[in-house]
Amino acid sequence: MIDSFGRRITYVRMSVTDRCDLRCRYCMAERMTFLPKSDVLNLEEIVELADIFIARGVKRIRLTGGEPLVRKGVDQLVSALGARIGGGLDELTMTTNGTQLAHHAQPLFDAGIRRINVSLDSRDPDRFRHITRRGDLIQVLDGIDAADESGIKIKINMVALRGLNDDEFAPMLRWCGSRGFDLTLIETMPLGEVEEDRTEHYLPLSEVRERLTRDFELVPSIARTGGPARYFEVEGLGVRLGLITPLTHNFCDGCNRIRVAATGTVYGCLGHEQKVELRDLLRGGGAVAVDRALGQLLAGKPKGHQFRIQEPKPAVARHMSVTGG
Ligand code: SAM
Ligand code: SF4
Repeated sequence: MIDSFGRRITYVRMSVTDRCDLRCRYCMAERMTFLPKSDVLNLEEIVELADIFIARGVKRIRLTGGEPLVRKGVDQLVSALGARIGGGLDELTMTTNGTQLAHHAQPLFDAGIRRINVSLDSRDPDRFRHITRRGDLIQVLDGIDAADESGIKIKINMVALRGLNDDEFAPMLRWCGSRGFDLTLIETMPLGEVEEDRTEHYLPLSEVRERLTRDFELVPSIARTGGPARYFEVEGLGVRLGLITPLTHNFCDGCNRIRVAATGTVYGCLGHEQKVELRDLLRGGGAVAVDRALGQLLAGKPKGHQFRIQEPKPAVARHMSVTGG
């Protein structure tokens, strides 16, 4: 799959549910309405779609959400997709909030998952509960331990939030170093209404990086994943630090990805509405129609996003939980 700017799409993020057991303030509203079940692809349809992508050259699939581990039957799904590793697919990964990880870590490993991202915005129980509006930190830390023990490599995702966790970057980095985890810091992105003013907690990572360089030596890494992160090796800690800066840095030139919502809507870009609807085409049994729609998506995939945190309205009306992070 090659788009009109010559970018080859080899990476797909698939949201397996829009539901979540947390309500992170920057991501969701307190009272979210979730989709009826019939609107969401069933597990067989997700696998069918993954097979179409793999046949068209996709090498990596990341399962996300909402919270992927609250989807009923997720272990079966992961096992079915894991069976594609080596048969066209190079890697299957997941982004999770970790609350259900204690029960799922072993099945994920057994299915072939070797790396996961776990979101953890604070290691203080009260702050964690405040940011997620309900989360239990211990449950997440137990999940992280279980994944670690099963042999899955862990990267922690932490959204940088002024006034909420901005004194925790250095401690989080040291903790990751002590546990053998990598760390990625993320800027808040203006996606969907969340009943909160995101600008209040927006913290540019340029500022975070400047602060971290007072305590650590950050050696720029040549690693690029085609994604929005820039990487640094943190001297002495053995941690690779990723900085995802969609608002302060344009990363779109090397974009290699598309995103599938739980409904089978496929988006060319996180920061645009450009999309094709595949669910009804899949249900109509039209592999040819699905292929044609994907062709349209690639032809129209935007050159880049134009996020601006200062806008009164979110740049894109849909929440991150629709297309997954
Ligand atoms: N529920 C899972 C989790 O939290 O890891 C997977 C889905 S979540 C939407 C994926 C990532 O997106 C998380 O790391 C989360 O912190 C991040 N995220 C959600 N909304 C965001 C926003 N508006 N700006 C920046 N990051 C966001
Ligand atoms: Fe749920 Fe992840 Fe969004 Fe938090 S960031 S509300 S855990 S989907």
